[in-house]
Amino acid sequence: MIKKLNREQLLEIAKSSKAAKACVECSSLSCPGWTSVPGYFDLRKLKVLGTLRAENLEECWDEYHPSGTNLWSEDAPIAIHHHPYNRSEVLECLHCKRTFLHYTEYGGYYLDERVRELNTTLVV
Ligand SMILES: [Zn+2]
Repeated sequence: MIKKLNREQLLEIAKSSKAAKACVECSSLSCPGWTSVPGYFDLRKLKVLGTLRAENLEECWDEYHPSGTNLWSEDAPIAIHHHPYNRSEVLECLHCKRTFLHYTEYGGYYLDERVRELNTTLVV
């Protein structure tokens, strides 16, 4: 069972990882904004800390961009009740404890694993 995280817990995780610098294992993930996980990157190098997914809530596909950002923007707010954060997991690098958000985009014929670095200052 993956632990459900609320906003406070997310912020705590983000803060505790702030000092962490990318290590050899995860430095290929450079993702201030959402980025597809490179094919050569093994997601098993990251450990699941918890999920932001709310099981019993209605699915919400709305995104939150009050200041004109879009899904891919590096400065897009991290709004945990909005898409895609409401279906994201929080991961940490096993090696250096750097933290990431991760979700899977299901297209018609493809699966896209996406990651974004967890940045405290963007959590709204
Ligand atoms: Zn690392």
